[in-house]
Amino acid sequence: MKSNQLCGPEFRRFLDIMSESYETMEEVNQKAGEAISEIASLLCIEKVIINFLAPASFISPKGELVNRVLYDSQRQGIQDQIEIQGFQYKTGEDGKMYVEFYLHKDRHKTDSHNQEEIAFVAKLIFAFGGRNRIMYALNKMKVSDVQTMLPNTEGFLQRAHQYMQDMSIHKFVGIFLNIKNFKYVNKIMDYRAGNRILEEYVAFIRKLLSEREVFARLGGDNFVLLIERSRLEEFLLQIKTIHIQMEDGPRIQKFSFGCRIGVMYLDQHLSNPGQILMGTSIAMQMAKNLGNRDVVIYSPEMNAQILAEKEISMNYGKALAKREFLVYYQPKVEIETGKIIGAEALARWMKQEELLEPAAFIPALERNGSICKLDFYVLDMACRDLKNWILEGNEAYCISSNFSRWNLRESDFVERILQVVDRYQLEHHFIELEITETSSFEDYDAMICFSREIKKHGFRIAIDDFGEGFSSLNLLKNIEVDVLKLDKSFLANGFMEDKNQIILEGILYLANRLKIDVLAEGIETSQQRDFIKEKGIRSAQGYFYAKPMPSAEFQRRLKE
Ligand code: C2E
Ligand code: MG
Ligand code: MG
Repeated sequence: MKSNQLCGPEFRRFLDIMSESYETMEEVNQKAGEAISEIASLLCIEKVIINFLAPASFISPKGELVNRVLYDSQRQGIQDQIEIQGFQYKTGEDGKMYVEFYLHKDRHKTDSHNQEEIAFVAKLIFAFGGRNRIMYALNKMKVSDVQTMLPNTEGFLQRAHQYMQDMSIHKFVGIFLNIKNFKYVNKIMDYRAGNRILEEYVAFIRKLLSEREVFARLGGDNFVLLIERSRLEEFLLQIKTIHIQMEDGPRIQKFSFGCRIGVMYLDQHLSNPGQILMGTSIAMQMAKNLGNRDVVIYSPEMNAQILAEKEISMNYGKALAKREFLVYYQPKVEIETGKIIGAEALARWMKQEELLEPAAFIPALERNGSICKLDFYVLDMACRDLKNWILEGNEAYCISSNFSRWNLRESDFVERILQVVDRYQLEHHFIELEITETSSFEDYDAMICFSREIKKHGFRIAIDDFGEGFSSLNLLKNIEVDVLKLDKSFLANGFMEDKNQIILEGILYLANRLKIDVLAEGIETSQQRDFIKEKGIRSAQGYFYAKPMPSAEFQRRLKE
């Protein structure tokens, strides 16, 4: 054979096939075989084998060991006429590729050009294979999360789409998983350690999955999965709490992660895979909102609820500017005499001629943190009403206003209260700030600082809804409190039971020793009043005395 035959039509066909792009490595190998068959007889090639060894990397997370016959002429009875020639190359990811040619000895030997051309073809096979591997990696990157090597959102949608097309999607449930409190990891560990913990977390879950199940990362500590329906319960149990250990210098740090989960049962009516992301994320959001349940199953009604919240958040800013919020007052009463001793200012929203109670809008504002503006708006209105009352020559009363715990994170919280109250030149002891007790340590510290600071300025502090959550008596040790507002749950059914009574008596005893006033909220009946009176509580608030009412009505009551 002459060397210029490399420019012949066979070789051109070889190049044409090799330089196409292929979807999978399987296809690449198959096409390489086809390409070689074009030049096989020209170059005396009887068989080509590749050996490929790649360490674990982004392209193949478990590493790769491929041993494959690319081409075989399948001619029989020529074993003793074969000579083997091999070529070894190093790949970019520190792997190895070995290309082995089985050549027809007689012709190959006598033709020195053939030897050079085989070496050339071997290099081409290596180069084109590498090119396709890179293309494959690029395509994979589009659907992968590079840090965890899980599919990303796009990758998830593609896999779900496949299951929809082959009509098996109903065999799965969609799961949205959010790791609880992961943000604290980055606070105590450095960023890189945080990443390693996340990778361990992912590895733990990955091991639990069957071949057909899908596990994808949406970003941060949010994941979405397709789990076989029959395995749902088992899976939820397995991931309820995941324990991870990390070496941190000489120490071993131990972490336990819970998670919040939105589950969506899938059926054939699904019209696009994006609905799985939407439904499961809404259910997960519900779990977050509820706070007391980690797993919530999606139902279509949830859409309406989420929409309603969105609508509230969207209209809230304008409503504040248009002063659509009103302040109602609920009297606080001295039990012994029935005399009004003050009032709590409570927000109402006059929304298109409908008067909304806080339950309809406060939770949504509380969740997105925008509540603080309303708190100051209400304080401002309450101060204005009180000031006008005093200017009319009446005796001042004490007014309490609610403040969300979100305010504690603002460094100018105290200053802003001073600004509002001082604008009306009111004496500070007429203003009481109601804050609900806290269950998070961060807020706890902030609460201590705030209470000390605000007390210096002579304001009063009330702990609202005391006893509703995980009340901590420790709170009373460190936080400067004037009033405990006992939550109405203390009056709920079964309250007269021994244990509850003992707890109440304990709280009252402590409050008394610490010189903290106690006010009972939610008194609705004379029996309840008698009960708390007998326990020694001196002030109360509740429908039994009066419901929240507009300012004018409240002031009329005061005059009576
Ligand atoms: P809260 O601060 O514990 O206020 C007392 C709530 O209990 C009021 O509900 C009041 O109407 C209700 N209540 C009073 N007596 C009785 C009774 O005898 N029986 C029953 N079942 N309920 C009674 P409201 O006005 O609907 O306010 C609900 C909550 O909304 C408040 O609870 C407070 O946490 C929040 N809120 C209201 N206004 C504001 C505000 O301006 N800022 C913030 N951050 N929260 C506010
Ligand atoms: Mg309150
Ligand atoms: Mg309360």
